[in-house]
Amino acid sequence: MNRFKKKIFIIPVLISLICISYLIYQTFILEKTAHVNYTEFLKDKKNGNVEAVTINDASTLKIKLKNGADYYTDNPRTLTFKEDLLTSGISVKESNVVSLNKSIPSSILIICIFSIVIMLSKKIKVSSSMTSMEILNNEKEFKNKYKFSSVAGNEEAKESLNDIVDFLKNPDKYNKYGARMPKGIILYGEPGTGKTLLAKAVAGEAGVPFYAVSGSDFVQVYVGVGAARIRNLFKKAKSKGKAVIFIDEMDAIGKMRSSGKIGGSEERDQTLNSLLTEMSGFNDNEGIVVMAATNRLDVLDPALLRPGRFDRHVEVALPDASAREKIINLYLEQKPCRDIDIKSLSYKTAYFSGAKLESLINEAAIIAAKSDSDFITEEHIEKAYSITIAGYNKIVRDSLREEDRKITAYHEAGHALVSLLKLPEDSIEKVSIIPTSKGAGGYTLSIPADSAYINMQYLKNKIMVLLAGRASEELIFGEKMVTTGAYNDLNESTKIIQSMITEYGMGNSLGLLRKSSLGSLSSEASKEVIDECKAMVENLYSEVKMLLQDNKSILKSIAEGLLEKETLYGADLAKLTNIITPQAV
Ligand code: ADP
Ligand code: ZN
Repeated sequence: MNRFKKKIFIIPVLISLICISYLIYQTFILEKTAHVNYTEFLKDKKNGNVEAVTINDASTLKIKLKNGADYYTDNPRTLTFKEDLLTSGISVKESNVVSLNKSIPSSILIICIFSIVIMLSKKIKVSSSMTSMEILNNEKEFKNKYKFSSVAGNEEAKESLNDIVDFLKNPDKYNKYGARMPKGIILYGEPGTGKTLLAKAVAGEAGVPFYAVSGSDFVQVYVGVGAARIRNLFKKAKSKGKAVIFIDEMDAIGKMRSSGKIGGSEERDQTLNSLLTEMSGFNDNEGIVVMAATNRLDVLDPALLRPGRFDRHVEVALPDASAREKIINLYLEQKPCRDIDIKSLSYKTAYFSGAKLESLINEAAIIAAKSDSDFITEEHIEKAYSITIAGYNKIVRDSLREEDRKITAYHEAGHALVSLLKLPEDSIEKVSIIPTSKGAGGYTLSIPADSAYINMQYLKNKIMVLLAGRASEELIFGEKMVTTGAYNDLNESTKIIQSMITEYGMGNSLGLLRKSSLGSLSSEASKEVIDECKAMVENLYSEVKMLLQDNKSILKSIAEGLLEKETLYGADLAKLTNIITPQAV
């Protein structure tokens, strides 16, 4: 198509070249060589050599001699010229031949030039619209074959996204109740955990078009271009009625605005603003859902997370052992394989993301193909595993060591156990040794009984729960083996203790005085406060250790459960420990 257009373009160019050369030939060669003085012509006329003269309006006349030669001479333009010739017995042709000689190619030339200009301007238009097309084509629209069944594991995420699918499929059902469709959903979690896959699956399940862009595409473009792209994207999506818009690497445009930073951030701000404007610009039930992915939720601009914007946050965590088994199964199912111990592979691949598992299986398939084997076997998987592990970064390699998993398991088990014993009102959603984007090890607490006042005993218990990770490590592995894993816990507990003594009036050194109202403390008073904090944390720590010592067998069974399953939910914990909390009933 494009080639054809280029060929068409050549035609007027060629024609005009021909016309130009003809005109040059006409004026400079043909006429110059045969141009004769008017007096010469008069002589020829007098001698009776002239046979015919062609008269026209041009500056020259064409003369034909009796001997067959012809030439041009100047046109005298006298009124009696024709009569003069006729009376001399010379035939006179009155025609425009000469001027036609020039006027036809001239007009062709003009037409050609015109069409070239038109074509050029069209081409410029096309190419400029091409660039905007190309910009738009950065976002790809997929004919989507993904379904939730293409995503193994990630059950919680799938469950929470199911609502969106239902919203997209049956908007009337929700309209009837005046329910508002969530406009923006943020998927957060480690790279390769299937965020993109989930977004595609949402579109696939709902049967709506899927548009994907990446936040990093908007960085380092000229000011205004990013914003225009966002507007185009929404325009396109809206033209389809319903759609899922997916923005990968959301942090590239949605990072917290650091104050005072100029240059480079302006474009990002404009892009972000236009995104927010577009999102608030469409009606709740129009059927456009924006899904964004980021590795970290905490770096995003709070403006993005407000209600009516990206107010649904879905964690897409690294897969635990059973989820890994499902993912491995999913990818092996599609390939010829035999005698593979999927269970043991799923244990060996702790901390692998879905993407890593997929590439591990792919690697095994390549090895099998290279060795001309009919099936992928355990041997190929083994080889692929060592290759993949070698390519892994050190931290993950280290944490794959059994010893480290064990320490993490006891650390998290300590938190869980003390929470069950000391804060039975707080339900434990899950405990996990799979690291989350929030920190090493995963331990989720939700606080259901939100009483209006938090008392001193609650705070002390809370500190004990925080200290329990470290205490458990020490109890099981000895004082010398404690790790830095408790860094975050100690941070938290220190903050609470300090607030108790210096802000909440729960200590002795300041009594009911608040430090923040006192201004700076004398070094003596400061020392007293610190001493009191230290004494408090030491007391609580030894209390925790005692508690764990007394319940060591339960601690062990939680840790072993974690080592086996990697993630334990509230119900699993209740079964393992036989501790009945109000929530578990
Ligand atoms: P993210 O967007 O979180 O970085 P992707 O969705 O791009 O991750 O995942 C990359 C690839 O990894 C997917 O195309 C898929 O092949 C594989 N993958 C990741 N998680 C899963 C999963 N839970 N189930 C099946 N495949 C997965
Ligand atoms: Zn901890």
